[in-house]
Amino acid sequence: MQLSDSISTVKGIGEKTEKLFHKLGVYTIEDLIRTYPRTYIEYTEPVSVNSIRPGVRCAIRAKVVTNIEVKKPRRMTIVSFSVSDGTGSVRIVFFNSPYIRSVIRKGDSYVFVGTPKVKGNFIVMEMPEYYELRKYTSLKSVMQPVYPLTAGLTSNTIRKAVKEVSYLIEGMDDILPKDILNEYGLMPRGQASFNVHFPRDMEELKKSIKRLAFDEFLSFLYDIKILRENCIRKENAHPVGKDAAGKLQEFIGSLPFELTKGQKDAVSDIITDMTGPYTMNRLIQGDVGSGKTVVAEAALYVNYLAGYQGALMVPTEVLAVQHFKDLSKVFSGTGMRISLLTGSLKDKEKKDIKKKLLDGEIDIVVGTHALIQDSTDWKNLGLTVIDEQHRFGVNQRKKLSMKGNAPHTIVMSATPIPRTLAMIIYADLDVSLISEMPMGRKRIMNCVVGTSYRPTAYKFIGDEIKKGHQTYIICPMIEENESSDIENVIDYSYGIKDWFGSEVRIEYLHGKLSEEDKIKILERFMDGSIDILVSTTVIEVGINNPNATVMMIENAERFGLAQLHQLRGRVGRGDAQSYAIFIDTKESEESKERLSVLENSNDGFFIAKEDLRLRGPGDFFGIRQSGDMPFNIADIYNHADMLKMAQDIILKYSDRISFKDTKLAETTI
Ligand code: ADP
Ligand code: MG
Repeated sequence: MQLSDSISTVKGIGEKTEKLFHKLGVYTIEDLIRTYPRTYIEYTEPVSVNSIRPGVRCAIRAKVVTNIEVKKPRRMTIVSFSVSDGTGSVRIVFFNSPYIRSVIRKGDSYVFVGTPKVKGNFIVMEMPEYYELRKYTSLKSVMQPVYPLTAGLTSNTIRKAVKEVSYLIEGMDDILPKDILNEYGLMPRGQASFNVHFPRDMEELKKSIKRLAFDEFLSFLYDIKILRENCIRKENAHPVGKDAAGKLQEFIGSLPFELTKGQKDAVSDIITDMTGPYTMNRLIQGDVGSGKTVVAEAALYVNYLAGYQGALMVPTEVLAVQHFKDLSKVFSGTGMRISLLTGSLKDKEKKDIKKKLLDGEIDIVVGTHALIQDSTDWKNLGLTVIDEQHRFGVNQRKKLSMKGNAPHTIVMSATPIPRTLAMIIYADLDVSLISEMPMGRKRIMNCVVGTSYRPTAYKFIGDEIKKGHQTYIICPMIEENESSDIENVIDYSYGIKDWFGSEVRIEYLHGKLSEEDKIKILERFMDGSIDILVSTTVIEVGINNPNATVMMIENAERFGLAQLHQLRGRVGRGDAQSYAIFIDTKESEESKERLSVLENSNDGFFIAKEDLRLRGPGDFFGIRQSGDMPFNIADIYNHADMLKMAQDIILKYSDRISFKDTKLAETTI
């Protein structure tokens, strides 16, 4: 067997399991080995019931003291019973697991592992793991990997499959020769991969994760290096004359606001680049709401005046539509011909637009990934802009800048990164930083509250709606699911429709709707025909409705702080006072402390740092920062030292790095 073999050759993986693995993107043995655990659990000594704390995962050893009760409300099956250890009792509840009835017996003792919570007068543990006493003793004190799952595939299945191929792991080729590994004190790659799947102790595990993070950085920086060699310091093929730059002042003067200092500086950096001798490669970095769009518009405008075409690429169709409309409005009266190119257009429409791009009949195109397809090309592309760049991989960025004849490139991002790290990650780019918010913005007012606060929040939202403002409410899930604690968009909107009555217009939005429906709903939200938009995090990037003043987030404890900050950034975009309400369903000490960071700060940079500080020692991978960076294991904050090391090795030894037997280079970006 070798790494490139199909996973179907692994003992125990039949056709059905193979399909499930495919859903996780796992096709070969190497993919399997690169399916790293999400986290690890340690089975700890059981605690007595009277000492358990709500919201804190624990094990209890207790006897089943009641009958096993089965109820069938709606489409569900609920199995429940009480257990006691003499110091207190706990109600155990299982959803949609009818078989529990035949495996748990009244009068027997078991170990239950789960997160207890208080419901009325009871302590409840929902969907705990359960073990016979002897079995638990054998599990205790071994760190068990927990893998990312897809429905039908259990951590256990993955664990077994990895075990089958474990003999291949340690012998994996390294991407660096031994002497360099020794010089930098790096663990061999095979050994690190092995340890991550079968950790023996914490110290070793940490070292192994660092090594794998290092590999991701190295391959990322390697790509950046190639990108830089291809793109940077090319002669300026699209020079902008001084007169075009002069006319830009008219455009800026026509805006309904004065640019901030950061915006002015960014625009002036851009003009210097575009009138200069080399192709521009510039990053505009600014927190959510700092006004990056208008800077891009200024650049697109001078580019147009100089006689070139421009392209604006964004990660989602909804954002494309929004930018398209925004640009159409801002540039109305200039004669500029603006088009939209997205995946969901009809084939004929796409063809038509592509033809016009080639013929030079479109001045600016706004679009999604459709812009980097091979079949898309321009007559005279002078400038490409990439918004929310962290959503795109290095290769996608490269593809767009390879279009046309060395166009200028602007990428925009809100990801806060310390300067030293930014210089490494963005080695191929010059950086303009917008560090202040537009004047007159009122600071968003925040509150973190428990679920009992909901009626007050709804009253407050009702008052905002009476003032003509709009509200977002975010739920983590789309549909009903097994845990009654996690809110879902569909049931939630029915629930609040009852509360608010028919005069408040409520609609919901989520990622599974068709692009067409998503766009229609967002359009109605933008033009004020929807008062409350209940949504999943699909609205997270870029959406700009300055009339929305309340962002309420259900199950806030389930999101990473940086993601919550992005979500909150959807409000506070106009003159009116805006509010963020974070509902903490768990109300544990830990979630309170974490969320209080948001309550006390609106500064993305500070929040990212705090997020890191607050991660517990067992929290190896942190809460995923929602696609912020194209890494699987690596985290630029947590593994900053590895990033610097990778940078050093790229500078010193780039010709001795070998990605030949590994897919690492393509899969991490
Ligand atoms: P982001 O940086 O998050 O992409 P946007 O470019 O969408 O932010 O801008 C957010 C809002 O701020 C928009 O409604 C925009 O019109 C407005 N805006 C941008 N610059 C200024 C400014 N200098 N003064 C007042 N409002 C501004
Ligand atoms: Mg934006």
